[in-house]
Amino acid sequence: MRAIHWFRNDLRVADNPALYAASEKDVLPVFILDTHDAKNLGEASKVWLHHSLEKLNQSLGGKLYFIQGNTIDEIMRLINSEKIDAIYWNKVFEPKQSNKDSELIDLLKKNGVEHHSFNGSLLWEPESVLKNDGTPYKVFTPFYRKGCMKSESTPREPLPRTKHNFINAKEETTLSALNLLPNHRWREKIESCWSMGEESAMRRLNHFLEDGIQNYKEGRNFPAKAFVSRLSPHLHFGEISPNQIWFKARAMGDNKNIDHFCSELGWREFSHYLIHHFPFMLEENLNKNFDAFPWDNNEVFIQSWKSGETGYPIVDAGMRELWETGYMHNRVRMIVGSFLVKNLLTHWSYGKDWFNDCLVDADLANNTASWQWVAGTGADAAPYFRIFNPVKQGQDFDKDGEYTKRYLPQLSNMPDKYLFNPWEAPEEILDVAGVKLGETYPYPIVELKASRENALSSFSQIKKKK
Ligand SMILES: Cc1cc2nc3c(=O)[nH]c(=O)nc-3n(C[C@H](O)[C@H](O)[C@H](O)COP(=O)(O)OP(=O)(O)OC[C@H]3O[C@@H](n4cnc5c(N)ncnc54)[C@H](O)[C@@H]3O)c2cc1C
Repeated sequence: MRAIHWFRNDLRVADNPALYAASEKDVLPVFILDTHDAKNLGEASKVWLHHSLEKLNQSLGGKLYFIQGNTIDEIMRLINSEKIDAIYWNKVFEPKQSNKDSELIDLLKKNGVEHHSFNGSLLWEPESVLKNDGTPYKVFTPFYRKGCMKSESTPREPLPRTKHNFINAKEETTLSALNLLPNHRWREKIESCWSMGEESAMRRLNHFLEDGIQNYKEGRNFPAKAFVSRLSPHLHFGEISPNQIWFKARAMGDNKNIDHFCSELGWREFSHYLIHHFPFMLEENLNKNFDAFPWDNNEVFIQSWKSGETGYPIVDAGMRELWETGYMHNRVRMIVGSFLVKNLLTHWSYGKDWFNDCLVDADLANNTASWQWVAGTGADAAPYFRIFNPVKQGQDFDKDGEYTKRYLPQLSNMPDKYLFNPWEAPEEILDVAGVKLGETYPYPIVELKASRENALSSFSQIKKKK
């Protein structure tokens, strides 16, 4: 029997439930760059995807068939031209993708083609975790501790690799025809910071379990330290499954660091869960009270934020890290997010779009749910009135400035006392540090106290309307 394995966000061979299930058949491995979905792919994601597909193709002996077009049309065309009897895939738990799957299933049924779909990307399927009254959870702790951890359905143990007979399609295709690599040299920065593909993902996991996880619970807050896994892009593209991570981490024992790390995987589950049960939140505030919020959306401020020129060093360092590496540490994501939404009164969707374009781990579920969390408009979110002070955040979490100076070398001679508030430094200190405000580093674009008060007064307006 001839079958297609349709690769999506499961760009791996090991622990791939759909590929595993197809092992008895002759398998044509296919990747489709959907023309419509490609419009939402950020530049950094494209770079990652290109290299990840290249690695996957090598693992499949060069048999991966690349297509660009309308997914459903292309699948039906291949089924006819390649005389395919069955198709296998791992589900993508995003509302539009699930709708597309339903449409495809109807067509396959009409045409008498077998289809088999699996869960290869989540520890718990969103429909399997509900409150006693049958409604979805909206608060993380009961979702995770009760809904997931006490659920009868426990995470699936990782599957072993199996042998396959991969077959070629009649026509030849190439990865380069997908045109994923941007023409500008910026992509080299991403390529120099990361190693894509299944093997690299497993190496990164092993390295983190040997070297980082012991300090995870506290250490994960300090952006200069290597106490986080940086597995997010590998997870997003499915080069590694959450099951492989979960079981390897759990096998190390039970302590606060392992437990906390697993609970962060739980936040990933929660994001996917939320967009499944509340698909409107991809575009709209989950908390409808915020629909009346008087956002300012000042283009000049937004541009300064994007280019790391706000005059607040921890914010600017974060935005430069994003641009230079395609990644930003979670603590700093929260700081830059709070600054954009609260101090600059910008709707979270602007931040979400910029992150989508620049992050190598850009993920519809995690990005949307996290921005709504930061903005206070989401489920179990940080309350709007909790506004991060970027000076204090810098002093608390990057005390000696290692992270900030890495991305803002023009501040490398600033003494710790004024590193996060250079506008308060006496002239002679700025001179000695070689900093000229307004020239080598900007003045703050907004004043902290005033912008905070402005945010709180805008918030009180929507509270009154409730
Ligand atoms: C404004 C904002 C936007 C974000 N956008 C994204 C995004 O597009 N893609 C993305 O993967 N994450 C996003 N996150 C969540 C988080 O910042 C990243 O997952 C994390 O920094 C990735 O680094 P890591 O792999 O070293 O994480 P670790 O701390 O090592 O955590 C392990 C894994 O758990 C998951 N995880 C950790 N923290 C979170 C979280 N808060 N929410 C959901 N999952 C989490 C990730 O899959 C991560 O790889 C965002 C957070 C914020 C505040």
